[in-house]
Amino acid sequence: MLDDIYLDTNATTAVLPAAAQAALHVMQSGFGNPSSTHSTGLRARHTITAARQSAARAVGAQPEQMVFVSGATEAIQTAVLSALCHLRTQRETGQPTGRLLVYGATEHKAVPESLAHWNTVLGLGLELRALPVDTQGRHDIALLRAWAGDAALVCTMAANNETGVVSDLRSIEAVMRQEGLQALWLVDCVQALGKLPLQLEATRIDYAAFSGHKLHAPKGIGLLYLRSGAPFTPLMAGGGQEAGQRAGTENMAGIAAFATVLDALAEGHTFHGHAQMLPWRDRLAQSLREAFPGIVFNTPLAEALPTTLNFSVAGFSSKELLDVFDAVGVRVSAGSACSAAKALPSHVLEAMGLPAWRTASAVRMSFSPLANEAFIAQACVRIAAAGAAIRAGHLAQSGVAPARADGVVQLASGAQCTWLLLDAASRSAVLLHPQAELAERVQGTVQGLGYQLLAQWGNGAAGDGAQATPPTLPVRLGDGSSAPALRLGTQVLVHVQRDGREFYLYGNARGEFLAPEDVRFVFGPASPDTAGWQGVAGPLAVWCPDSDPQERVAAVIQPPQPPVDDAWTLQPEMFDQWLQRHPEALLVDVREPAEFHGAPPARIAGHTAVNLPMSRLADQLGGLLSEPGRPLVFVCRSGARSTRAVRCLRHSGHLHAWGLEGGLALAES
Ligand code: PLP
Repeated sequence: MLDDIYLDTNATTAVLPAAAQAALHVMQSGFGNPSSTHSTGLRARHTITAARQSAARAVGAQPEQMVFVSGATEAIQTAVLSALCHLRTQRETGQPTGRLLVYGATEHKAVPESLAHWNTVLGLGLELRALPVDTQGRHDIALLRAWAGDAALVCTMAANNETGVVSDLRSIEAVMRQEGLQALWLVDCVQALGKLPLQLEATRIDYAAFSGHKLHAPKGIGLLYLRSGAPFTPLMAGGGQEAGQRAGTENMAGIAAFATVLDALAEGHTFHGHAQMLPWRDRLAQSLREAFPGIVFNTPLAEALPTTLNFSVAGFSSKELLDVFDAVGVRVSAGSACSAAKALPSHVLEAMGLPAWRTASAVRMSFSPLANEAFIAQACVRIAAAGAAIRAGHLAQSGVAPARADGVVQLASGAQCTWLLLDAASRSAVLLHPQAELAERVQGTVQGLGYQLLAQWGNGAAGDGAQATPPTLPVRLGDGSSAPALRLGTQVLVHVQRDGREFYLYGNARGEFLAPEDVRFVFGPASPDTAGWQGVAGPLAVWCPDSDPQERVAAVIQPPQPPVDDAWTLQPEMFDQWLQRHPEALLVDVREPAEFHGAPPARIAGHTAVNLPMSRLADQLGGLLSEPGRPLVFVCRSGARSTRAVRCLRHSGHLHAWGLEGGLALAES
């Protein structure tokens, strides 16, 4: 396996060796409870006192202003609770209060979710208002000025975790310092720590949140900065730890490790500074430009942290790009780790008003101030490899090896499925349901093969990319009706309209007649209309949907057996034994060819998989179904695509299809 080039440090980082050492020491030797009054306890207390000083020094504050918490989410929670309890008290004593909870539209979800949560729990009925940002991710300061007078709390992050956009805290501060303004101010400083200078005490900021694991401390430790005199309500009550501000026996290992990181930051020998990191980011950006000519950066680099790049590549989804990067050992993400896990489009890029294709294609690449020249150089080599994989290319990325450029290819799935029909004998192609952002990729694929694109039909075909449809000829169908068709060699693509909906039948015509058993594919709306095709298409014709909300890829029109609801995945730990019991099983790797560039084919428990790219699954479905008793195990990188493949097979009547839980990421580790 290739070494990891980890470029996802905005999600989390590895623990600094010296910090791990400090944590180990505290766990093994300095394990005292800082509340104990004996010597072991006193030593532990000293560890916290020193750590608090380190924290204060790193962010330009006083030690008594720093509270150790479990992470930024808790720090944000505490700040929000404090501000809202303060407002409640003001209301109860008849004082005037703000009625708005204002937060930047690109804040981490921890902020708006905490605001909504505590507003509901405390029954305050305040209005949450997202402060818009422009296309470069910058807050609308004029609007903030207009709203600030009515605000109870204003939340504006220092730097964005997805785009790296650095907020204009100076201008925000100028608003917050206006005469008579009562609003409290929370700044999420998670991504700023170690990357931007911080002098919190000199600002008007009331609360600031920090997270250890974003800067080489362990997960589960963070900090809340509290301006002296800022309203405060503890989130946790109990034994009075942290001067009564955060009860619970302290996370001593985390505190010791975080302090080591903060000391290293203050001393300036371990982490690189802004000036050193800028050329590294620029080198990465240049490598990306060379590797992906269709690239667009989603943040102007001058406005962003020196450690973060966010970009999109026309014609490719985030998922496709991530898969290719992962295959060359580069770990990047599509946005925040939280939204990536839920596969949601980025609310940050949506708030910036980027076109849908850029949001759907976005990739975040981030490195830490611990990086060095050699690492960046290696990263650039791998980026070039990812680019080569994609170029080698348009064909491979479309799942089409020139040797088997025939049949049906699924180019995009989800809200709209685009299908490319290829006929090797006549060297011709037809595109169904084209999408503008795929135009370049389709052109590259078709030209690369030396085929002629005869027509673009279906949803989206009326757009700019539409191509005049050549004269069609009528073809007779099994039910006696006839419909216009396009000929691709001996194949015909018949355009049928039923109940006002469009369908396309694809198969091998005998002269001007397309017999039901010769219809191989039916392209139509999301769910197969099983009854409606009798006499026109056989039960085993493959239904290729124009959208795929249920993530089934494709399915035969009338499966011989309904899907059985047993477990559809195998556990990697048990897989060896399972294979011994099923030696005839076929291991199918559904990754796309571009993901193999430079990467060996999947080998699990001594078995080598055959490659059937996901984009060709519909095309090969008939073949897979022809051996209904043979166990099939689908694998991919994370287990997501293989799950879709299993769903496709099961819904087509194959009862022995499984996926491998966790994908190759677990199986090969
Ligand atoms: N705020 C920002 C900007 C972040 O990037 C994150 C982490 O994803 C958080 C808050 C939440 O931090 P934690 O994981 O420490 O709760």
